[in-house]
Amino acid sequence: PPRAQTERVDRAKRNEILKRNNVAVDVAALRKSYDKQMVLAGVDLTVRIGEVVALLGPSGSGKSTLLRCINNLELWNDGSIKVGGRRLGFSDSGKALSPRLLAQARAEVGVGMVFQQFNLFGHLTAKENIAGPLRWVHGVSRIDADRRATELLGRVGLSHRADALPRHLSGGQQQRVAIARAIAPNPSVLLLDEPTSALDPELVNEVLEVIRRLAVEDGLTMIISTHQLRFASEVADRVVLLADGAIVEEGPADEVLSNPRNPVAQRFLNAME
Ligand code: ADP
Ligand code: MG
Repeated sequence: PPRAQTERVDRAKRNEILKRNNVAVDVAALRKSYDKQMVLAGVDLTVRIGEVVALLGPSGSGKSTLLRCINNLELWNDGSIKVGGRRLGFSDSGKALSPRLLAQARAEVGVGMVFQQFNLFGHLTAKENIAGPLRWVHGVSRIDADRRATELLGRVGLSHRADALPRHLSGGQQQRVAIARAIAPNPSVLLLDEPTSALDPELVNEVLEVIRRLAVEDGLTMIISTHQLRFASEVADRVVLLADGAIVEEGPADEVLSNPRNPVAQRFLNAME
């Protein structure tokens, strides 16, 4: 279907940013195994600033592991990850960073993450889920953190639920709070790991709509693992298909989804339709 005029205009603006070719995330020859199982078998992935990359692939192909490595929630065995030109995970001498240094590096380079299961703090209100981490992790004052949380709740359409606890929110509302929390510190890249997979079908669209707006209006750099092919083809600049820990297909969404060359990709995409 043809895109709305406004979206085309915004996209043109964003492509201007892409043309400058600044690299947001640079993953090179990344290898990771659990025990003897190789989960990432040499992944190379460069994401430019403002680019939206959809990460597709069968269950168990390594999508979550790749995103968790980029967010330094996992260490890897070989290869390198840079975010905003800064090397993550290991010091220059090859030593793994301590948890404290890791947390610091993550905050400094600004990687935000949204999880399949929302992972909100259950005992905190929607607003405090956003404002709290801004104060504790990012040293923002109470008044500024509250202002930012209020602004973001408005942007995800939840101003009226600011004081609700997560268990009193729908899954779609919880995920929108989680997205607001993740973008509150202005991350340079936002990672979303199957953000709609835990939702009832009727709640999927409200979350996709929020993500779509972040791409179109904010030009936020994002890597989204998803099984929503239509969403991927509408929002992603590029689709990357993982199978058994390796990228088997990659390119513009329209091309990859309609005309995959790799047999594994063909089988996977056929099974999705
Ligand atoms: P995806 O997100 O694409 O479904 P994952 O990255 O979750 O794939 O998993 C890739 C492979 O790594 C799977 O075979 C999975 O069983 C394995 N795996 C993931 N996390 C762990 C872990 N903490 N310990 C051992 N094996 C794991
Ligand atoms: Mg996963």
